[in-house]
Amino acid sequence: MRIAVAKEIEVCERRVALIPDTVTRLVKQGLEVWVETGAGERSFFGDSDYEAAGATIISDTAKLWGETDILLKVSPPQEREDGRSEIDLLKEGAVLLSFLNPLGNPVVAQQLANRKITALSMEMIPRTTRAQSMDALSSQASLAGYKAVLIAAAALPKYFPMLTTAAGTIAPAKVFIMGAGVAGLQAIATARRLGAVVEAFDIRPAVKEEVQSLGAKFVEVKLDEETVAAGGYAKEISEASKQRTQEVVAEHIKNSDVVITTAQVPGRQAPRLVTEEMVAQMKPGSVIVDLAAEQGGNCACTEPGKDIVWNGVTIIGPINLPSSMPIHASQLYAKNVTSLMQLLIKDKALQVDFSDDIVDAACVTHAGEIRNQRVRDALQ
Ligand code: NAD
Repeated sequence: MRIAVAKEIEVCERRVALIPDTVTRLVKQGLEVWVETGAGERSFFGDSDYEAAGATIISDTAKLWGETDILLKVSPPQEREDGRSEIDLLKEGAVLLSFLNPLGNPVVAQQLANRKITALSMEMIPRTTRAQSMDALSSQASLAGYKAVLIAAAALPKYFPMLTTAAGTIAPAKVFIMGAGVAGLQAIATARRLGAVVEAFDIRPAVKEEVQSLGAKFVEVKLDEETVAAGGYAKEISEASKQRTQEVVAEHIKNSDVVITTAQVPGRQAPRLVTEEMVAQMKPGSVIVDLAAEQGGNCACTEPGKDIVWNGVTIIGPINLPSSMPIHASQLYAKNVTSLMQLLIKDKALQVDFSDDIVDAACVTHAGEIRNQRVRDALQ
């Protein structure tokens, strides 16, 4: 059984799907591991580190993709410089494990199905206790939440902590986190460690205790509708509920030095939580970091991939933040993909068992079919 690690060609992607430590473990299990030349370079893992771990370094991309049983990647397959899709390089029937963004870009799923690839999407791993070690959305969101606070602290023309100095007392920064999922909770913890006073808001009332246990205040908005969908995810809320939450959060946004938005609804555009009017009410020098920039942004003024100043407020719309911490991002991702791989390999042979709920949920294409109804719907 041969496993291959591709070099990422997406320009913003610095992560790699396996790190040398995980290669060592796979090789000990009797698996053959190929790593493309320079695959770990942008995350500071050299070819010689992989070789020492027992991998074979392959410089011929077509050979690496075309002669492997399981191909591991981080970013969804891309179009190459020669105009061909990376997907065309895979042999029919091969397995691909990667982020695939199948709901946002279902065309990739169609291409994978056409090529008869068994593709498992890291975004589709169920958020269950058994799947925790494979949950790449969580491992990467946590990095993003942490980094978002550091970016905000660096951009804020103020201290975060309260300081009592001979030259006077500095009040702590006020940080408001919108969306208290994995990224939001890590943002709360990080902002608290830096000494800020933190408030957080989420439409899922269940997160109140978690927010409070991290030392932040939970901003509560009582809504008359169910806000939680299957799997614990947030649901899209009605216009009336949106209006109601906006009225409550507007005051908190106005009084904050930093607003970090992390709200998402799977498969949909990010909900608009911060309007232009709200930004106009913020103090000059305040900072917004919008972690939903890639999904359309939680803030009306966000420009994905850019830092802009609007009415004196700095609005930062970072893209692929986990990739800015590639060492730990790759380490965690490597653990996620290898845990998933263990479900697919029995006695050193590939066995894709759809009676396993994790394999069933994560596998978007198999034997020429798109297996997931939501992905099929997204293609319409
Ligand atoms: P996410 O990235 O999909 O969204 C981030 C947060 O934004 C969520 O908390 C969501 O409730 C919130 N949100 C959505 N719309 C909003 C709005 N209009 N206003 C304010 N907030 C809004 O979330 P996530 O971090 O991926 O977590 C999703 C779910 O998965 C949660 O229930 C989480 O607890 C669960 N989860 C479970 C496990 C596990 O059990 N293994 C692991 C990770 C996450």
